[in-house]
Amino acid sequence: MHTAVVWFRDDLRLDDNPTVADAAAQATELVPVYVVDPRRRGQSEYGPEKLGGHRARFRREAILDLRQSLRDLGGELFVWEGHAEAVVSDIVETVDADAVFAQTKPATEEIEREHAVKTALPGTVDFERRWTHTLYHINDLPTPYDRIDDTFTPWRKEAEDVVEVRDPVPAPESVSIPADLPPGEIPTLSDLTVDSPPEDDRSVLSFEGGETPGKRRVDSYIWEGDHLREYKQTRNGLLGADYSSKFSPWLAAGCLSPRWLHREIQRYEDDRVANEDTYWLVFELLWRDFFQFQFLKHGADFFAPGGIRGVEKDWRQDREQFDRWKRGETGVPFVDANMRELNRTGYMSNRGRQNVASFLADALAVDWRWGAAYFEQQLVDYDVASNWGNWAYQAGVGNDSRDNHFDVLSQAEYYDDGAEYVRRWLPELDGLPPEYAHRPWRMTDEQQATYGVELGVDYPRPMIDIEARYDELG
Ligand SMILES: Cc1cc2nc3c(=O)[nH]c(=O)nc-3n(C[C@H](O)[C@H](O)[C@H](O)COP(=O)(O)OP(=O)(O)OC[C@H]3O[C@@H](n4cnc5c(N)ncnc54)[C@H](O)[C@@H]3O)c2cc1C
Repeated sequence: MHTAVVWFRDDLRLDDNPTVADAAAQATELVPVYVVDPRRRGQSEYGPEKLGGHRARFRREAILDLRQSLRDLGGELFVWEGHAEAVVSDIVETVDADAVFAQTKPATEEIEREHAVKTALPGTVDFERRWTHTLYHINDLPTPYDRIDDTFTPWRKEAEDVVEVRDPVPAPESVSIPADLPPGEIPTLSDLTVDSPPEDDRSVLSFEGGETPGKRRVDSYIWEGDHLREYKQTRNGLLGADYSSKFSPWLAAGCLSPRWLHREIQRYEDDRVANEDTYWLVFELLWRDFFQFQFLKHGADFFAPGGIRGVEKDWRQDREQFDRWKRGETGVPFVDANMRELNRTGYMSNRGRQNVASFLADALAVDWRWGAAYFEQQLVDYDVASNWGNWAYQAGVGNDSRDNHFDVLSQAEYYDDGAEYVRRWLPELDGLPPEYAHRPWRMTDEQQATYGVELGVDYPRPMIDIEARYDELG
């Protein structure tokens, strides 16, 4: 094979990228391409934008980093704008390519794009798809994906018993490209008409996009910080860079591969310590895998109001309540603090995500899909399967037949007992003791005057009687 186009998608890396490795092994010349497709941004059908500033910035950095890494190998990353099927077939024609290599993803729009690209190619050009973003390879599952269990634990136990994680594949040593092909400009956020994200020094991490910064984060968390040995014990934290790995943005954009990460975990276990905490990071990566395979199995059903189980629920379409939730002005401090962290930084802890999702879907009974769409806009680590899968789960229409709500108030008091987290993101509550920082509506007028926090003026009154609502939900 003389020339192969490599269409980069959510696999913005060279290490353990079988799409690139296989193309490099089979072709003399590579044409690595990233397509800036306008369909990945703009307004979603639920209202929010598909792509917000936090992820747009991260992705731009990841593309810059990938271009630099390819240049270091003698290659290039060609960045062209347009619909993927038009751009890829244009390039194929220009360089007279023999094949296109691309990552395959499980979600509906992504699969549609793949079909469109394949269909637009001349019949003589091969379209080679590679499954590259999970820990377990899809072909190694003991039960084919369309028949896997819809509950995590039985699926995990069956898979863990038999599946061996495949070895990561090395990056190519050099890349040779055709002459005279214009590399293309990497668009800025303003070219994309996406607002620049705010900068906030309260952010848990600066989250710089790219394989190089992703590996630096692994180094800092696993090796320098030595945090893996206590991961399970700290992962429900809320403050600081190291209570959890924060690998999610790099995994979602494919700057890091889960298999490469798995090898780092194994090296750590060999060199330092192997315990329940080190295993637990693998366990969480299996949650990630589970949702990826579930998406392939159930497809568009994940976006239905009743989810994959067709659960009948009366979702409210209340834009005013939704907007208050989005802005972090519900009057329930733990919800507001988490939403403000998300808005300012693009990140929220797993504990926070579960609570704000439950507040929207259970306490307010507002359409859970609006919340998922808002997360899609804001999250720096947005991944279609992880996001919609977790939202459906939390809303009681996903991969868990139990329908439990979170009691956000007792969660707040348990996980943020000194109210440090709430006060970090809601400085207007700074003077309050923890009991009122979590339930400010319990303050009398005199107490409000004493602490200098007037409800309805300095901080919103709660939008619903949340304590009564939890009594009602049981
Ligand atoms: C409503 C809701 C929406 C979510 N949306 C996303 C999303 O869009 N993208 C995303 O990557 N994660 C999502 N998650 C899962 C989880 O909250 C994040 O992966 C995690 O908080 C990221 O921080 P971390 O990398 O420090 O996680 P760690 O605790 O260090 O976990 C390590 C890795 O395991 C994976 N992981 C952990 N928990 C989960 C989980 N429940 N589901 C899937 N993968 C998991 C992630 O890749 C994560 O980076 C969502 C969870 C909820 C409840």
